[in-house]
Amino acid sequence: MKIEVLRIGQRLVRDDRVTTHVALVSRSFGASKIIMQEVNPDIKNTISEVDRVWGGNFEVEITENWKKILKSKKNESFKIVHLTMYGESINSVLDEIRKEKKILVVVGAEKVPREVYDIADYNVAIGNQPHSEISALAVLLDRVLEGRQFLKKHADAQREIVPTKKGKKVLDKTID
Ligand code: SAM
Repeated sequence: MKIEVLRIGQRLVRDDRVTTHVALVSRSFGASKIIMQEVNPDIKNTISEVDRVWGGNFEVEITENWKKILKSKKNESFKIVHLTMYGESINSVLDEIRKEKKILVVVGAEKVPREVYDIADYNVAIGNQPHSEISALAVLLDRVLEGRQFLKKHADAQREIVPTKKGKKVLDKTID
């Protein structure tokens, strides 16, 4: 399944850390691209540095027009999965979402406009309590991909972790 993420809005006080974490979760939990609005352009460099060291080809796009993105993704046959605590339970829509070929997961940074609820193919709640776009995104991606995202290895990685019971073991793949 092809998965992309769209983050709408930015808090009045710019929260670069949360924005970076939304992008990092997208990258490491199986999405291939994130599109964000009104963010610090340095975040793009942070994520490409992560890609350079740990591998992969995760795309970051900054947009000023999320409505246009939603329309063009719909035309490209993406199904829109909007994460909101007001939506239907993930438990009841998961089977349907898993059957989709391409999804655009939409998360908000602040109050999300009504039209997003209308254009969405699925308005999905990860529980009906308020929490955060980082946790909602992580849970959705993990439920949809059932942990398969963590098996992925990047051939172009400079470093690779060897999981160990204790301590830290990291392979430097730049040395033969
Ligand atoms: N008060 C805001 C609203 O009415 O949309 C909530 C903003 S919340 C800090 C930021 C984002 O986290 C939301 O737009 C939504 O994407 C996600 N989120 C928070 N709780 C959620 C939940 N229980 N289920 C799904 N998504 C959630």
